[in-house]
Amino acid sequence: MSIKENLEQIKTSLPKNVTLVAVSKTKPESDIMIAYGAGQRVFGENKVQEMTSKWENLPKDIKWHMIGHVQRNKVKYMAPFVSLIHGVDSLKLLKEINKQAQKHDRIINCLLQVHIAKEDTKFGMDEGEVISLLASDEFKNMQNIKIMGLMGMATFTEDETRIKDEFTFLHGLFKKLKGIYPASAKINIDTLSMGMSGDYNIAIACGSNMVRIGSNIFGARNYN
Ligand SMILES: *Cc1c(COP(=O)(O)O)cnc(C)c1O
Repeated sequence: MSIKENLEQIKTSLPKNVTLVAVSKTKPESDIMIAYGAGQRVFGENKVQEMTSKWENLPKDIKWHMIGHVQRNKVKYMAPFVSLIHGVDSLKLLKEINKQAQKHDRIINCLLQVHIAKEDTKFGMDEGEVISLLASDEFKNMQNIKIMGLMGMATFTEDETRIKDEFTFLHGLFKKLKGIYPASAKINIDTLSMGMSGDYNIAIACGSNMVRIGSNIFGARNYN
């Protein structure tokens, strides 16, 4: 099937409250423009440089989401335009985002990444770290950050029960934080980013309202 057909099929299958992030990492701008032509406006990338050059070349109504692990020294490149940063996993990183956002007189929307997988390789904070970050004076003093919710990646496994347990845990934390923090200028726990090509149906059943789908739209990636 074509990119357009893949995209249309996925979009019609998603519940109305679920936002689709089309993950275009490693894919050429021409592929992004096919999806754009089919109405897609939200794209996800995992490398700051790649996202920045795509932003420079492509239509300005695209919303660029940074879904990968972010190095602090790269934040400055995306600060002028990034629409949502999914992978915030430390106060140090958040401080740098706040500083760069300030330079551009913007509020940058962020998700806190929570480590839910039973794998060492996936980044993210645990529940205690999330709660102490949000309670810290340093966070309270940041004027250019808005926390929009949580992001997580399940273990890469065939074991659906395990995937479901991990997503259910994250949904539980999401609801808990929603209860602790009423919506304000700095915190609006509204977005739960979980689910990729292989597990987005499970994620949605477990409460996800933002899915990040790459290969099911654009085809398999080649890494050189
Ligand atoms: C690459 C990537 C995705 C998309 O993966 P697919 O399996 O191709 O859908 C989603 N989330 C993150 C964080 C990624 O790095």
